[in-house]
Amino acid sequence: MQEAWLQVQCPACSDSWEERVNDLPAPDTQFTCDDCGTERALSEFMQTARDLEVLREFNE
Ligand SMILES: [Zn+2]
Repeated sequence: MQEAWLQVQCPACSDSWEERVNDLPAPDTQFTCDDCGTERALSEFMQTARDLEVLREFNE
């Protein structure tokens, strides 16, 4: 599988950064923002529909 970088954005504080898809858990996993400590499903941190799609495909 080709290595992909995803745009991640916190829904609470709007901090954004990039993560390798290989380093991320499944979309339904609880994920914590390093900046503000908000805990949500990882799918809510995906900045665009495309990023979520790539994450879902990778975790199939
Ligand atoms: Zn945050």
